[in-house]
Amino acid sequence: MKKIIIATLFLFSPMLATADLKVFACEPEWAALAEEIGGKAVKASSATNALQDPHYIQARPSLISRVRRADIVICSGAQLEIGWLPMLLNKGSNPSVMPGNPGHFIASDFVKRLDVPATVDRSQGDVHPQGNPHVQTNPHNILLIADALAARMTELDADNASIYKRGLEDFSQRWREAISGWEARASSLRGKRIITHHKSWVYLENWLGMEEVANLEPISGVPPTAGHLSSLLKRFGDDGADIIIHAPFQSEKASKWLSERTGIPEIMLPLTVGGSDAATDLFSWFDDILDRLLGALPS
Ligand SMILES: [Zn+2]
Repeated sequence: MKKIIIATLFLFSPMLATADLKVFACEPEWAALAEEIGGKAVKASSATNALQDPHYIQARPSLISRVRRADIVICSGAQLEIGWLPMLLNKGSNPSVMPGNPGHFIASDFVKRLDVPATVDRSQGDVHPQGNPHVQTNPHNILLIADALAARMTELDADNASIYKRGLEDFSQRWREAISGWEARASSLRGKRIITHHKSWVYLENWLGMEEVANLEPISGVPPTAGHLSSLLKRFGDDGADIIIHAPFQSEKASKWLSERTGIPEIMLPLTVGGSDAATDLFSWFDDILDRLLGALPS
């Protein structure tokens, strides 16, 4: 009997010894941030990839089993994942990652949300009823979220507190230096008039002082219509704007249609890590955003 118990312990001990903090991120930027802070102490994966619209994915069984095993779920929130996360959490039946528990981390709770509507008319189909959820496009937001996330990871995994402390310090220092560089490079973007496919970039515009003058979507979440595009053509045919932006998972048709008729340059901007070949981590992702924006301006 004793032998059996020892054998059983031996069998299961490698599992018990796995100290990784298992991170289920809703979007790639939060998996990347958890890895920046935790390094080898975390095992992070993302439910969506950069070529998917995080508003709309399928709640696949493989995602449910990842939620079931997760120590922490990290999501943008503000209803970005309303179409699929509640179902994953429900079916995952993992109390520690349910709302209200430390394992449930909502990134947009730690920054000032923009575009919070005074009243919400859901009949119009607006997909941002709690303010704009795409908070990752301002690197100052990432810094605030990193602080809160490191504290939460420490709370959940006190054994690795020193790793998270060092990881946060190291990341924050490199990130602040990177921000200074980006801000110096981006000065010519100030005041530029931007048309975006979806309202994905309000935090980026706020950061760099760009002005969003229109969206290709008539209402956030409603695909561009011929009527709306015609009205944009009337509006911007003479007056102009500086750049038209779409994300990799949005059809470039509407951008190209308007660009060809107005002469306004149109570009794809990666909305997160992995959204372009160059955007391999958080740092190179912002490098690439600036490269692409600056590349669209006349030299
Ligand atoms: Zn959105």
